[in-house]
Amino acid sequence: MKKLSFRVKITLWFSFITAFIIAVTFGVIFRVSNAVTQKNIQDNLIEITEANTDEIKYKDTIDDTWEIQDDQYIKYGDGYLEIDDDFLDIVNGIYSALYYETGTLLYGENPLAKINADIPFSDNTVQTVNFEGTEYYVFDRPISGDGTDGLWLRGIVSENQGTQQLDRIVSLSSVALPALLILAVLGGYWIAGRALKPVYKITEAATKISQGNDLNKHIESGKGTDELHRLVDVLNDMISRLNKAFKKEQQFTSDVSHELRTPMSVITAQCEYTLESTRTQEEYEDALRVIQRQGRKMSRLIDDMLCFARLDGNKDSYPKEKINLSMLVTDICDDMSLLKTNHIVLSRDIQPDIYIFGNSMLISRMITNLISNAYRYGKKDGKIFVKLSCSDEVLLSVEDNGIGIPAELHEKIFERFYRADESRSTEGTGLGLAMVKDIAAYHGGSVEVNSENKKGSTFFVHIPK
Ligand code: ADP
Repeated sequence: MKKLSFRVKITLWFSFITAFIIAVTFGVIFRVSNAVTQKNIQDNLIEITEANTDEIKYKDTIDDTWEIQDDQYIKYGDGYLEIDDDFLDIVNGIYSALYYETGTLLYGENPLAKINADIPFSDNTVQTVNFEGTEYYVFDRPISGDGTDGLWLRGIVSENQGTQQLDRIVSLSSVALPALLILAVLGGYWIAGRALKPVYKITEAATKISQGNDLNKHIESGKGTDELHRLVDVLNDMISRLNKAFKKEQQFTSDVSHELRTPMSVITAQCEYTLESTRTQEEYEDALRVIQRQGRKMSRLIDDMLCFARLDGNKDSYPKEKINLSMLVTDICDDMSLLKTNHIVLSRDIQPDIYIFGNSMLISRMITNLISNAYRYGKKDGKIFVKLSCSDEVLLSVEDNGIGIPAELHEKIFERFYRADESRSTEGTGLGLAMVKDIAAYHGGSVEVNSENKKGSTFFVHIPK
């Protein structure tokens, strides 16, 4: 079943259900019709038997010659039994016969004559008797009136009487219903094919996209709002997202290669130059210092990339725990205030005992990145102010009065490897703020900047309590 196509599966289900409904409907109709037919046969039997009882009279003598010609006379006791010519011997398969109570047949026909004696007379009930494989209904009435004591009229009819019509219905149904079922199956197969046409189109389009490796393409579905159109919208949305993620990944790889190539070229060039001829001790030391600086830069870059990869995928690398953020920020500020780069002074206002659920290594990295930037892009004799407070959420801000950031770059600076033109001369990889953003997001928070070009910047990090 699993290997069958969806179209065939739908058709098979449809056929099973149709066949089941047809069979049940036919069964019910047959049973009801049969019950009605049997009831009619019995009613007829009772009606005719009762009518016949009125046609039997006792006469002492026979004196009317006209009557003798049409009616039947049977010698009975001292007189005669007159059977009126309205007496119905056999009608609609119902046999009527007159008996003496001992079981002796006096008049009429009876298909059960052979076993008749075994069936006791029973007034006003329909008995069912099986004779040579056929069921018969038997109905008895005693004849009431002067001189007719001990006489019984018996009506007998086969249950097959009147079922010929039912047999015809059955034989017709045994041809018509399978034909109907075959028609329904073919119709179902055709309808399933039509209903699944858009799915085939979607599959075809999706296959083309995947074979051509072109995520810029979209699946065409035309106008509409049904389930399949919604499916196409979802697939197109997914393709767009994949495309974006794929492009981001490509950009990242190309940026990383580019950033690694620069220090590698510097190291190679420095080595080639130094090895060209014999150098002084001082020249060798200078060369090694350049190589060390570039090596550190590369190692920082690789560290950052590893951190991004873990934040993107393997989050277990950074387990979270309850940390005293106030203490963490205070310690980092105290350590970094010793830098005094460009005579910049770092001051702080930290609300005590603010706790968050987070990873202290990542949070330290985030704060360090923000304060490093404030130093790097600060002015000579400038100021850095770090503030930590907590109301509805935890708010960390790092303010400087440095070079500031033009408004149009406020979004861009959080992209990986983005560096504003003025920053190119300074040391940096363009990954610091992207990492701040990812770390804030990892803790369920966000980061934003408020900055005016040439006047200074304030970075705000919001973290849920
Ligand atoms: P970088 O390694 O270049 O510092 P970041 O991602 O940390 O990379 O910062 C991206 C860019 O945002 C920087 O190149 C710089 O132009 C700008 N920037 C970041 N912090 C500040 C700041 N405090 N003042 C002014 N510009 C800043």
